[in-house]
Amino acid sequence: MVEFVQGAYILAALLFILALAGLSKHETARRGNQFGMAGMGLAVGATLLLVLDQVTSYDSAAGWFGVVIILVAGSIGAVIGIRLARGVEMTGMPELIAMMHSFVGLAAVLVGYNTWIEVADFAGSADGIHNAEVFIGVFIGAVTFTGSIVANLKLSAKMKSAPMTLPGRHLLNLGILVLSAILLVWFMNADGWGGTAPLVIMTVLALVLGFHLVAAIGGGDMPVVVSMLNSYSGWAAAAAGFMLGNDLLIITGALVGSSGAILSYIMCKAMNRSFVSVIAGGFGSDGTVSGEDRDYGEHREIQADEVAALLADASSVVITPGYGMAVAQAQYPVAEMTRKLREKGVDVRFGIHPVAGRLPGHMNVLLAEAKVPYDIVLEMDEINDDLPEIDVVLVIGANDTVNPAALEEPGSPIAGMPVIEVWKAKDVVVFKRSMATGYAGVQNPLFFKDNTQMLFGDAKDKVNEIVAALG
Ligand code: NDP
Repeated sequence: MVEFVQGAYILAALLFILALAGLSKHETARRGNQFGMAGMGLAVGATLLLVLDQVTSYDSAAGWFGVVIILVAGSIGAVIGIRLARGVEMTGMPELIAMMHSFVGLAAVLVGYNTWIEVADFAGSADGIHNAEVFIGVFIGAVTFTGSIVANLKLSAKMKSAPMTLPGRHLLNLGILVLSAILLVWFMNADGWGGTAPLVIMTVLALVLGFHLVAAIGGGDMPVVVSMLNSYSGWAAAAAGFMLGNDLLIITGALVGSSGAILSYIMCKAMNRSFVSVIAGGFGSDGTVSGEDRDYGEHREIQADEVAALLADASSVVITPGYGMAVAQAQYPVAEMTRKLREKGVDVRFGIHPVAGRLPGHMNVLLAEAKVPYDIVLEMDEINDDLPEIDVVLVIGANDTVNPAALEEPGSPIAGMPVIEVWKAKDVVVFKRSMATGYAGVQNPLFFKDNTQMLFGDAKDKVNEIVAALG
């Protein structure tokens, strides 16, 4: 049985690698997800078989009770998971993911405690390596747990997105790390239940560290934080794999941990921020509106039928969607408008900023859902050079990701972040409901440029009006 399960684990690991490879491109993403589901199904099934095999050979009441608990807990989890996944809006996806990372963190903490209790209870003292695995697993798990909860609360606006900047916050983090290292030495030298105190104290410290690390990071950096927590949750799972002696969990944890770290790095590059400065926190909205006191002049308004006329006369159009398109669920009318314009011979393309929306790839998913052809959906770097030649840019619910202040105002909180340079086009139309700021809380001088006109209202309603006017 063990050989069979090991074989199934290797196959599952291969399926996970194929899943990651598939997810790297729109065209193959669906297949990638299917590989992932098959791999997970195989992994769970094989593990259950292994447990059943062990329980049958011992045939103890406690063993069978364990099997019942696994099946009941698994069924409850599956029901909750299916309900959540069906009910969640695309806009709520980042919060859901952050919440799921917190479960991985909590699981690693519980596995750690369980492993340690077994050792302390039966064997008295374990070898050093095993103790270190438990300690590090619980530490990463606890940081991931509270960090992910804070990320969830910030993303769902239940907690202010402004960074919490306590005086001496870096010293606080460093202090916790040093204390934890000292506790590790204590833990590794303690026998039996003697390890209780250092383990519990470290867990509390790690929970505080996770909370503080993410609370100190501002809204603008949340994408990086979500993928960083994704990476942490992977390492927490790998640590749990070491504790349980489960190879598949180690492989899967390492895959998640390293892909999350690579994604964080790519996003930092896209935002022109160093990884260390993101982790150190303190960036993003401080609750005040930067640039508000500067007089950028007057903005001009435009109506939907006028935009339709502008579009019908244009030969090239670029659409840059942002978070507002997701909120308004405007992707379907946007796809319809694109289809109509293309039928009229207008060259329509999309320019997607790497952190547009609230999740990496958020806009791509929405546009794919509305069946916009992949080949006209371009990345920021692919579209920026073409913008001076474009007749009309439609900024649909994007704000920070098209803010020229990032390039022109060195003092701006988003200074240095690469943006889609929409203002270089001949005409720009910005779809939003008011003059309110975007996620980072900074004013956007784009709205006051001579070639920009504002189309106020819900993005879905306004695009529908344009579609109707296009006939
Ligand atoms: P922003 O969040 O900067 O701005 C969105 C704009 O959409 C707002 O100004 C809002 O203006 C408008 N809007 C909201 N609802 C509607 C609606 N129903 N109809 C029309 N307009 C609407 O969006 P961007 O996508 O440009 O930028 C993303 C920001 O989020 C960046 O700061 C990024 O760093 C951050 N972020 C990104 C994540 C990611 O992974 N992509 C994760 C977390 C944060 P108004 O209220 O006036 O309508």
